[in-house]
Amino acid sequence: CGIVGYVGSNLAYPILIDGLKKLEYRGYDSAGIALHTGDGLAIYKKEGKVAALESFAEGQNLLSTIGIGHTRWATHGEPSDRNAHPHYSNSGNIAMIHNGIIENYAQLKSELQQKGYTFKSDTDSEVLLNFIEDIKVNNDCSLEEAVRIALKRVVGAYVILLLDKDLPDTIIAARKGSPLVIGIGENAHYLGSDASPMLAYTKEVVYINDYELAIVKADELILKNIGNERITPFVQKLDLELAAIE
Ligand code: GLU
Repeated sequence: CGIVGYVGSNLAYPILIDGLKKLEYRGYDSAGIALHTGDGLAIYKKEGKVAALESFAEGQNLLSTIGIGHTRWATHGEPSDRNAHPHYSNSGNIAMIHNGIIENYAQLKSELQQKGYTFKSDTDSEVLLNFIEDIKVNNDCSLEEAVRIALKRVVGAYVILLLDKDLPDTIIAARKGSPLVIGIGENAHYLGSDASPMLAYTKEVVYINDYELAIVKADELILKNIGNERITPFVQKLDLELAAIE
């Protein structure tokens, strides 16, 4: 399973598809992407190979310079189109991908169902997404703030990437226990489970640590800890040997 993301001045879709293919070696049962097309969010997802996702997305509106992509290894809910990521939140305003497991999802799900939330998938991931949305609505706060609050109550392992309809230039990312690398390009940032999706574009990367949140725009990378303190990104240069594998 794996995650990719791109925000920059080029078209996101080919970069995301190429990135997902680079992560295929990790194993997966479904693939999907979400794009911010300017007027809103678009999600394309499919059980099966990345190639199946590509045929499915053909002819759709793929004009976007920001997006996130996912390969799923099902843990909660069978492999299917419906359970594939990304997921929309109940309002349709947030799209999210997740690698990992949310251990207390059953409890969170019943709390949300009592508040009237409905679920289109059987995944633990969609529960986390709506939990984040519920916090955002109740506290009337930013997505970044809602993610930070949610992660304090979530038990499990995760790397999550989110797109917000109201933030057409920003990817929000967070991790605990699942890997996340951010590559620094020219007026662009690349996100991945490892560096392989970004090696063709940059050798400068930041390895994100547990309990860190990233606010990623084309020309800006802000890192924060769960206590909302800014962290200076530690930029590493990938050595040429690793780059040569590419
Ligand atoms: N637990 C999530 C699911 O079953 C994410 C699985 C993964 O890491 O790909 O959908």
